[in-house]
Amino acid sequence: MTMEPELFAILACPLCRAPFDQSASGADTMVCSGCAASFPVVEGIPVLLPDRATRA
Ligand SMILES: [Zn+2]
Repeated sequence: MTMEPELFAILACPLCRAPFDQSASGADTMVCSGCAASFPVVEGIPVLLPDRATRA
C-alpha cells in the first residue's frame, strides 16, 4: 500500500511540526524532514504519536 501524496501536504510531525519527507518515507514508515524521527504506518494509516517515534 502506498501513502497518498495528499497526506504529506496535511500531516505534520507531532514532535516538531515539520512536514514529512516524502522521498525518505516508505509504505510502512513516515520520516520527518525536520527532526528525522520516523513513525510507523500500519495498514496505510500513519501512527503519528510521539511515543511511537523512532529517532534517527
Ligand atoms: Zn519532526
